[in-house]
Amino acid sequence: MITFRNVNKHYGSFHVLKDINLEVNQGEVVVVIGPSGSGKSTMLRCINRLETISDGELIVSGIKVNDKQTDINKLRRNIGMVFQHFNLYPHKTVLQNITLAPIKVLGEDKKKAEETAMYYLEKVGIPDKANSYPSQLSGGQQQRVAIARGLAMKPQVMLFDEPTSALDPEMIGEVLEVMKSLAQEGMTMVVVTHEMGFAKEVANRVVFMDEGRIVEEGKPADFFANPQAERAQLFLKRVL
Ligand code: ADP
Ligand code: MG
Repeated sequence: MITFRNVNKHYGSFHVLKDINLEVNQGEVVVVIGPSGSGKSTMLRCINRLETISDGELIVSGIKVNDKQTDINKLRRNIGMVFQHFNLYPHKTVLQNITLAPIKVLGEDKKKAEETAMYYLEKVGIPDKANSYPSQLSGGQQQRVAIARGLAMKPQVMLFDEPTSALDPEMIGEVLEVMKSLAQEGMTMVVVTHEMGFAKEVANRVVFMDEGRIVEEGKPADFFANPQAERAQLFLKRVL
């Protein structure tokens, strides 16, 4: 579904991604961890071309992300992204937030888009909030709306960049639960998170990054029990 081959990226003279090789298969949940500034967000943002790569090859469901011929909108339609800050439109209702892109981008009619939106609002557990405005919701509810909004585009991949980092502790669990059920339904997911419990329980694979490199990757059981790289050992000592 996603292939990075020898991908490098620079911000000016700063080498932010170094020889990234990564394969994410259909239905797989890959959790990316690592210290702040290690390039996790940048790597994620390259996948839907919010950032461009300097060299190497990046392919998402058969589409060469950085090819001149590539239709960015078509690429992005296949990729849902959920950010730390929910990025909902404050002056639109929950329902309008979710139906906007399906109507504008997919050309769905309003009624069908609203039915789809309600389906996903049920899924994330807040159908009763359809006509509320983001400011009337808790952080956890807003993030669940953001997830429903991503799902309403029926993407092939969902990317999550620290989706619970801006939440009060008591709301983290409800968002992780939604993500877990998504994973169980077979969604392909790449998740940057500091929630090691989620990584242990839900990830098929854990990728540890440091200073722009993938330093180690493996099954969560192996990685957490017996990290090989010294930098991974130090990181886990600090966060666990
Ligand atoms: P992480 O998500 O792991 O914390 P990031 O991918 O956000 O790391 O950032 C990796 C490094 O790239 C950091 O040192 C950061 O300061 C730098 N960086 C991120 N975005 C930019 C940018 N637009 N221009 C220059 N440097 C950037
Ligand atoms: Mg980040």
